[in-house]
Amino acid sequence: MFDLKAAVAKADYVTFLTGAGVSTPSGIPDYRSKGGLYAHEASPEYLLSHDNLIAHPANFHQFVTESLYYPDAKPNVIHEKMAAISNAKGAIVTQNIDNLHQAAGAKNVVPFHGSLYRVYCRKCHQTVPYQTYLKTDRHDVDGGQLRPDVVLYGEGLDEANINAAVTAVRRADLIVICGTSLKVAPFSLLINERRPEAQVVVVNTERLALPFQYEMIQADAETVFADL
Ligand SMILES: [Zn+2]
Repeated sequence: MFDLKAAVAKADYVTFLTGAGVSTPSGIPDYRSKGGLYAHEASPEYLLSHDNLIAHPANFHQFVTESLYYPDAKPNVIHEKMAAISNAKGAIVTQNIDNLHQAAGAKNVVPFHGSLYRVYCRKCHQTVPYQTYLKTDRHDVDGGQLRPDVVLYGEGLDEANINAAVTAVRRADLIVICGTSLKVAPFSLLINERRPEAQVVVVNTERLALPFQYEMIQADAETVFADL
């Protein structure tokens, strides 16, 4: 099997591209699977859309608070090792909105899709603690709608996040893709920004068919990262 430990030791700059699979060992399911509970109502894509936020605020609030928030979840060994490596020489670009990379102490994280733990009022833009949002989606000051600072379907990405993510990928001589099938654009397009000589490694339990050259580590990510 490919020696990730040696590759990390040799690299000047390591950028991790991560997705839901990094957080499942922390007990956070991919919302798409949990969204199955709501399949009779609407797809998770609709439930998590800007249209739903506006048209059905109560439905949106219920789905988000019941299915996405896991405030007691703790970072696992994948988050911990990625934090140590990226703090020394690299960055983490994540699709996850659960804050666990940051909770593990990672300082150079690009939350590509935002964070559930930053909540603001759509009317006055003031931020409120996420704990408030778990109880109500109304701002007590002005009655405005509260929402988490995450990118919903139908919304654009934060430009500063895009720039930071592209910079992280361009800078890396080693890119490690973990916990994501890299199918969802625009996140999946970030890899196209890599240097021609950058080495790409994929850690995943299932083989992926990605349209570029990479080293495949077909194994459980927790096991792989525990050994780093
Ligand atoms: Zn307000």
